Amino acid sequence: MKLAKLPRFNLAEFPTPIHYLKTLTKSCQGPEIYMKRDDLTSLGLGGNKTRKLEFLVGQALVLGADTLVTAGGIQSNHCRLTAAAACKAGLSCELVLNGTKPSVPNGNLLLDTIFKARVHYCARENRDATLVQVAQDLTDKGKKPFVIPIGGSNAIGSVGYVNAMVELKDQLAAMELTPAAIVFASSSGGTQAGLALGAKLMGFTGEILGVSIDQTKIGEDSFLPVLAGIANETAQRIGGDMVLAQTDFSLNCDYLGAGYAKPGDLEFNAIQRLAQTEGILLGPVYTARAMGGLLDLIHKKVYTKGQSVLFWHTGGTPELFAWADRF
Ligand SMILES: *Cc1c(COP(=O)(O)O)cnc(C)c1O
Repeated sequence: MKLAKLPRFNLAEFPTPIHYLKTLTKSCQGPEIYMKRDDLTSLGLGGNKTRKLEFLVGQALVLGADTLVTAGGIQSNHCRLTAAAACKAGLSCELVLNGTKPSVPNGNLLLDTIFKARVHYCARENRDATLVQVAQDLTDKGKKPFVIPIGGSNAIGSVGYVNAMVELKDQLAAMELTPAAIVFASSSGGTQAGLALGAKLMGFTGEILGVSIDQTKIGEDSFLPVLAGIANETAQRIGGDMVLAQTDFSLNCDYLGAGYAKPGDLEFNAIQRLAQTEGILLGPVYTARAMGGLLDLIHKKVYTKGQSVLFWHTGGTPELFAWADRF
């Protein structure tokens, strides 16, 4: 594997800890629940994008880029961490955010501002075109932009989650733990593609279950081909001969609720439950939906006593402040 030779810019300390959630486990009366704390990656309030950005920024620096350019929603964790990574790497950052500028920035948007990212607001349907335009304008001005796709989910970023699986394997061995499932929030796919590929490479045989935040797996919009595509390009990038098929991905789309960034009872209940049993915070958009899904699956006895499950906390806690009126 070429993994160790790929350009990488250090952004945080690894490994992130694994915590046993004793009180939550007791209250569920089901499997032992463990949590991998990627909310604690030590850059700009943490989250899963940090692992992807180590490889994306590494590549940007090799190419001599001076500006990171990416896009997302107003409360995008990915955009906030890209802005933080740019500061640490000595690069500029321009963000294309779909939505309108609020009078007072809050949550992730507040942090984007503190990390001095230049923000371009646009309508959701113009987001891709605006991203291209912003990069073009920078090039025209003699700058060297490095464009990062939504969520950092390409073969470069996904390597971060292959690497995370290598990290996890050692931790599980030391803890003598064999989870029946690894459960996490899945959206633009880079995390799931990397974890599924890493699991295959590491011989991890448990389930790798993405709880979908906004994607479907049926019909023309099926996200499974996208997952397989990212995983296979990532495999090529690390020099592996592994090929993943759509059937290698397990994506649960039962918890989409009212849609992306529209949290409801499932999410707010999960936030309060984790906070009040373990002192751990979840974000309303991603991690609370995924945890709400896991708690429901435990309630339905999909996972039971005698098993263990690992919830991979992908971060997103700064989102909380944008939903202050809901608590
Ligand atoms: C982006 C994000 C995810 C989803 O990761 P993808 O690689 O985009 O699927 C999950 N949780 C949080 C908090 C995120 O910000």
